[in-house]
Amino acid sequence: MKVRAWATMSADSKLVPFSIDRRDPTERDVEIEILWSGICHSDIHQARGEWGRSAFPMVPGHEIVGRVTRVGAKVTKFAPGDLAGVGCMVDACRTCTPCTEHHEQFCEAGPAWTYNGTELDRKTPTFGGYSTHVVVTEHFVVKVPSTLELSSAAPLLCAGITTWSPLKQWAVTKGSRVGVVGLGGLGHMAVKLAHALGAEVTMLSTSAAKKADAQRLGASDFALTTERATFKTHAGRFDLLIDTVAATHDVDALFRLLKPFGALVIVGIPPKSLELKAGSLVGGNKRFAGSSIGGMRETQEVLDFCGQHRIGADVEVIPAEAVNTAYERMIKNDVRYRFVIDAKTI
Ligand code: NAP
Ligand code: ZN
Ligand code: ZN
Repeated sequence: MKVRAWATMSADSKLVPFSIDRRDPTERDVEIEILWSGICHSDIHQARGEWGRSAFPMVPGHEIVGRVTRVGAKVTKFAPGDLAGVGCMVDACRTCTPCTEHHEQFCEAGPAWTYNGTELDRKTPTFGGYSTHVVVTEHFVVKVPSTLELSSAAPLLCAGITTWSPLKQWAVTKGSRVGVVGLGGLGHMAVKLAHALGAEVTMLSTSAAKKADAQRLGASDFALTTERATFKTHAGRFDLLIDTVAATHDVDALFRLLKPFGALVIVGIPPKSLELKAGSLVGGNKRFAGSSIGGMRETQEVLDFCGQHRIGADVEVIPAEAVNTAYERMIKNDVRYRFVIDAKTI
């Protein structure tokens, strides 16, 4: 089936209307008519070749919510008409240890990423959510709760799961002291989710203008990482810091904010290296970790949690033709807090 999409042809060109082929659903496939597609900063990094491994033409988009239109004969979880979500992966081997332990993102053979990758045949390119339809094997499709406003549910498929996973890995609960670094798409989900888990949340931002928003989203405190005083006032305070910053920044200073044995978890993926002094880690047995999206079980878990707690992203809905402007605005730190493409306009 030929479907409409928006694609970029090279790392220095803009996204333009494009046509792609989607396969007919095989027996385990779910065909989804896309309704909403979020724009993640990872889309920009990859569309612009900032991570150094981009394949073109590229149709970005891995925050997909839509409605099931067709299912294969052996599909059991979905029927036509159901709401469905697709995140960063569309397949993996499902037999290796990480796959069987529900961490498909670490599949030993390499997962099939939703775009800028290939299917498991390692030949057929994958195309993402800036399109009208997608066909995905059912294991990589999640159920979207009907209690959520659908445009605001789309960002849960990446921004939501990526911040949920470290909150769970570090067992954040009532009274945990969590700092979120960077208030963008990921950061605002981290604040909402940590708050909903009962944590005491502090927003650590470079943007004074975001203070009122941070408090509305659930942060009880706000501090500027551009001010030296922050690193004294909040020294030794946090059990966990989740760093969502998309650009090079001073991570070293952040370790001062952790309690002994506290952890700084990096989820942002700036294209350039970060600097760190060994002493910043050694004093206080600080932990420095990373976290990559989440497996399919965990992705369903965050959607269910958000359905129960009525948590969605704060979105600005845009038509597809505004996608290039949206990229420019995100780079200028002008997004409150996620752009979501209305797929009807693709
Ligand atoms: P975003 O909406 O653009 O937000 C990034 C935030 O970082 C900004 O809102 C800003 O917050 C802060 N920031 C930007 N430039 C900065 C600078 N020069 N110095 C300090 N702070 C700066 O991006 P996003 O979609 O949330 O994505 C964030 C990062 O996570 C990206 O690198 C993306 O590729 C990565 N990511 C990783 C995973 C994963 O699996 N680990 C998944 C998705 C995305 P303030 O104004 O509050 O400072
Ligand atoms: Zn993403
Ligand atoms: Zn595997």
